[in-house]
Amino acid sequence: MTEKLYYIDSLRTEFTARVLSCEAAKDAFDVVLDRTAFFPEGGGQPGDAGMLGSVRVLDTRERDGVVLHRCTGPLGVGAEVSGAVDRELRFARMQIHSGEHIVSGTAHREWGCENVGFHMTERAAVLDFDRELDAQQLSALERMANEAVWADLPIRILTPSPEELAGITFRQKKELTGQIRLVEIPGVDLCACCAPHMPGTGRIGLIQFTDAARHRGGMRITMKAGRAAYEAAAALSSEADSLSRLFSAPREGLAEAAGRLLERQEAQEAARVALERKYCALLVEKTPETAGNIALFESDGLSAAALRELAGALAEKCGGVAGVFAGADGAWRCVLASKSVDLRQWVRPFNAALRGRGGGSPEMVQGSAGASRREIEEYMDGQNG
Ligand SMILES: [Zn+2]
Repeated sequence: MTEKLYYIDSLRTEFTARVLSCEAAKDAFDVVLDRTAFFPEGGGQPGDAGMLGSVRVLDTRERDGVVLHRCTGPLGVGAEVSGAVDRELRFARMQIHSGEHIVSGTAHREWGCENVGFHMTERAAVLDFDRELDAQQLSALERMANEAVWADLPIRILTPSPEELAGITFRQKKELTGQIRLVEIPGVDLCACCAPHMPGTGRIGLIQFTDAARHRGGMRITMKAGRAAYEAAAALSSEADSLSRLFSAPREGLAEAAGRLLERQEAQEAARVALERKYCALLVEKTPETAGNIALFESDGLSAAALRELAGALAEKCGGVAGVFAGADGAWRCVLASKSVDLRQWVRPFNAALRGRGGGSPEMVQGSAGASRREIEEYMDGQNG
């Protein structure tokens, strides 16, 4: 059994220990020490990384009470080494994990929610509750969780005897055997868990929900805490500054400024569509009626809807096929319409001759043509004869 320093003091990240064994394992070495501050994966919290002497520890796992440090190089058996856990990583994880206890404990206390799923990294935790919470409840939950942080409550570890345990009500995520380790945040949570936590809630700093959605009859909440919550808030703040400069609006008025912009955009789009309609009507008006085909060429400014409308209107003025082409030589978007021929048949030789693509109904076909204007005109005129 490895002596587990992380259970004695979760804030301790530096220590010395003796190397008991070192075994080669898949491009790495599994090192066992007599004692360690490296926490192996457990309770949903990933295993620690850091340094042992001059070699890097990539990950830490536990097998039968023995902690295995997966190292980038070998260490001499019997040697004394100094260990340094990646403090930033471990603290970020403990902040999120400890924050998760507060959120789950509070949701359990207030609304009887059971935590039925939990996944975490140093960036965020995803929590699944078995009950739905509405927007108001979610907002209250986030606030109450932060109030528990501000109260700087102790986070205590209890190791009750089986007799004592029988009289205690606590949350647990799975059936446990052996010595049960309870994590207590007075008035907030009592939960079985094997991971190291912050010694008090104050060090969690901040709890922030970044997503919440209904999930399998309950809720899935994504939360950040501590460093990750601060970094997310700082990134959002920087985004807000950029938007504030773009909109020339105060940070507090960004939604309103964006709303005004969207309204203006909608009005402009409506005006554009009206102008486009008028323009298309003029094009139709000045196109003479014919018994054969019509080919109309435009620069690429017209919308797909306008091209369809235009082709449909021109089909009324010709006995053959009306083709509307928008773009330039070699890259035309086109719509073909007809009142007299089945375009699904007609378009096959058209596509073959003019490097065309696309399809549609017997009355209308949309696609593209890779030929030049001259080639298209000659093809359409040839059809007239
Ligand atoms: Zn825990």
